[in-house]
Order: sequence, then structure tokens, then C-alpha cells
Amino acid sequence: MERSRAEKQFYALCGEIYDLNAAEELLEWDHETHMPKRGGAGRGALLGTLAGIKHQRLTAPAMREALEACAEVAEPGSVLAAQVRCARRDVEHAVRVPEKLTRALAEVKSSALGAWQEARQAADWAPFAPLFEQTVALRKEEAAALSPDGPAYDALLDVFEPEATEAMLVPLFARLRQALAPLVHAVAERGAAIDPAPVRGEFPADAQEVFGRAVAAAVGFDFTAGTLHPAAHPFCVGINRDDVRLTWRWQEDDFRPALFGILHEVGHGLYEQGLDPEWQRTPMGEATSLGVHESQSRLWENHVGRSRGFWRWALPRLQAQFPGAVSCQVDALWPVLHAVEPSLIRVEADETTYNLHIAVRFELERALFGGDLSVSDLPGAWDDLYEELLGLRPPNVVEGVLQDIHWALGMFGYFPTYTLGTMAAAQLYAAAERELGDLEERFAAGAFDSLLDWLREKIHRQGGRYPGPELIERATGKPLAPDDLLAYLERTMADVYGF
Ligand code: ZN
Repeated sequence: MERSRAEKQFYALCGEIYDLNAAEELLEWDHETHMPKRGGAGRGALLGTLAGIKHQRLTAPAMREALEACAEVAEPGSVLAAQVRCARRDVEHAVRVPEKLTRALAEVKSSALGAWQEARQAADWAPFAPLFEQTVALRKEEAAALSPDGPAYDALLDVFEPEATEAMLVPLFARLRQALAPLVHAVAERGAAIDPAPVRGEFPADAQEVFGRAVAAAVGFDFTAGTLHPAAHPFCVGINRDDVRLTWRWQEDDFRPALFGILHEVGHGLYEQGLDPEWQRTPMGEATSLGVHESQSRLWENHVGRSRGFWRWALPRLQAQFPGAVSCQVDALWPVLHAVEPSLIRVEADETTYNLHIAVRFELERALFGGDLSVSDLPGAWDDLYEELLGLRPPNVVEGVLQDIHWALGMFGYFPTYTLGTMAAAQLYAAAERELGDLEERFAAGAFDSLLDWLREKIHRQGGRYPGPELIERATGKPLAPDDLLAYLERTMADVYGF
């Protein structure tokens, strides 16, 4: 095929795949925000049809031909080579995983989800165990289809974090465990909990929404290209860079869940809004990985949103929005935002213990797919690891192994991206400060644009140009490592607890 024709054909076919993905995302957002209760069955059929069309398009000879023709002419390191690399992942996945297995995975997903809910209600692992066993067996089959010679866990991880491997993650998590577990134990031994009084009060939902929107807009989220809706779980969906949808939830006696939830999703949203318009509807025109996506949300939630500089700007605004509710000064509020409280539930964890929750899941997933842990031993192994790492033993499976939905949906290899993102956030923030100077003084003046511009250039506009680990190394000048995260947490703990 002639070069220009091959490229034209390639981009046309990939544009359709992009649109099909966007349609799926829009349906997912609608499912969580507007769909009536009885809409589920019809929605399942709709999603099935879309998935079928996408599979046909990805495996069609025309796609294979256009992809190979472009691969032949793409110069190493060029944009076209990156486009081919991104497109090839989806094509290979569709080609390698037999349709029968794809269907079996979809089918087990809905029954496993039902069994997981039933098991949670009964606070009993037994109703879920057989379906979990099937899910693991099918994922092992999928991993073998994707990578016949490689470790099963790497194939699963690669779906969420391209080019990350178990061998790369093991030392990262070992260092985190080694450094964080003693820190958490030391805080526990101190016994003195931080008084949460400064953050308690009455925070009506509508006023929280006004405040959350004002903060989102101030840090750079563009509401002419994005929306914020209430939902049971906070999340962000990027239909395209001009249509980014965030959700939020709130608690009326504490402003933190809503504010930090919104800042987290705004971080995801800024990434989507910052993708290069030139690459829209192309394989490279999307975020490069889940880990890098999470680095953006954690950076705005923790490094910006929990900083003293941010609160010098935000506190007077919060006090104006909720008269009489938060009457303290920044110095009294700040320790409450960084308090360490080991708990059993991941989604409620503070920024220090959070990564230990992920370490537990990483350890168990590896063992399940490496073959040395059986499904029946999983609940006990979960409890033992919580006791070892967090000093707490779950009293039941609802507060233990059944707390997250991910495994019920068959999502193995997903959890580590949360910690990779948290590490990358600390490394990116440290690099930005090295290049831009003191950021907190600027936050105190309500100026968030220099940090956002830096992230736009280093991360957002790059889209899928480089795989996650390479992108972080290019942006920060060193390979992804836990050093900056540990330095940040140790510095913060010394400040809060006087270590
Ligand atoms: Zn996130």
C-alpha cells in the first residue's frame, strides 16, 4: 500500500475505534448518573453489541493491513511509530483472546458480581468462592492467550499499565512496606490521635457543590468542556478533551470527602482536557496508562490540596462558604489533613497507610496467579497480611477480602496502578518544584497555572506518545522509584507527629 493511503486508512479505522470507546464511556457515565433502575438489562444488550462491533473492527483484515503497512514505513521514535504501538495493543488483544473466552469472561462477570453482593450481605466468603475460582481460571486462560511464554500476572498487569512487570514492581513494593510499616506502627505507639474537630461541622450539600466547583475552576478545570454530577462513587470519564465528566459525593458533617474527592477527579479531568487536540481520535490521543492517570489525581488531591499554601488561599473561602464551621487557622487544620489512622477499608485510608492496603492486594494477586495461593486460603491470607502490615485484623469478610469490587469484576493487575500513580505524583511534584521554585507561595495567591502548564507540557499533551514508565522518566529525569513519595511522607509525619 502506498504510504499516504496506508496512513489515511489507518487513521480512519482507528478513529472509529476511538468513537466506539467513547460511546462505551458515555454509557458507563450515564449508568452511574441518570439511568433508571430498570434500565440495566437493555443496557447490557447495548454494551454487548458495541463490544461485538469493536471486536469485529479490530480483527478485520483491513485493520491488520493498515497497521502493518504503517508499521513498515514508521521511523523508529516517530509519532507514527507511537501510533502503531498504541493501536497494536488493542488489535493484538482482540486477535489473541478467542471470542469464546471473551464471552465467557463477560458472562462470569455478571454472575460473579451478583455472588459478590450476596456474599457481602451474608458476610460469608462461601457464596462467592466458586465464581471467584472461575474468574481466576478464566483470567489465567486469558493471560496464557495474551502471552503464552510470559508470567500470567505480567499479561494482566500490562492491560492497565503497559510495559510494567511483576519483576519491576516487587522491589518497589518491598521498599514501601519496609519504610511505611514502621512509620505506621510508630504513630500507633504514640497513641495520641489528632483531634478532627477543625473539620467537623455542618456542611450542606448545595454549599459544598458551590465550593467544590469554585476550587475546581480555580485550579484550571474548564467547565465549558466538563461537568460535575452527583453519583454513588466519584469517577472521571473523558469522552474527548472537550467533554470530560466528573462525579462527586459528600458527607454533611465533614467537608473532606467531597472536596478531596473533587480535587482527585479534577486531577484526572485536567489530564483529559490537556490532551493534544492534534491527536484527537487517534490511538495516541489518550492517556498513556492508569498509573499515569492516577499520578495526576493524587498530585492535585495530596500535593496541592493538602499543602499549607493551598489552604492559605482556600481556608478564607471555605469559611466564607460555611460561616462558623471551620474557625481554626491553617496551622491547626493542616495536621488533621495528614493524620495517620490505620483502618481496614482501603477507600477510607489516609495518604500514608493507603499504599499498605495496595501492598496487601498486590501480594495476594501475585500469589493467586503465580500458583502458590488457593482461592480457599485467600480470606485467611488477607487477614494475616492486614495484621502484619497495618496491625489490624478484619472481624469479618465484608471489612476484609470482600470490600473491593475489582476482583469480582475480574480486574487483576489494576490495584498496583494506584500505588504507581501515588509514587509518580510525588516524583512529578518534586521535579516541578525543582524547576519552578516554591509552588506553595503561588498557591497561597491562588495561582495554580505554573504547575498546570508544567504538567500540560510534560504529561498531558504527550498522550500515549511514551509508555508510562518512560514518560515519568522523561518528565522527572529519573526512573520511577518510591524515594520522593517516602521523603514526602516522612517529612509530613515528622511535622505532624514530631518524629
Ligand atoms: Zn483516581
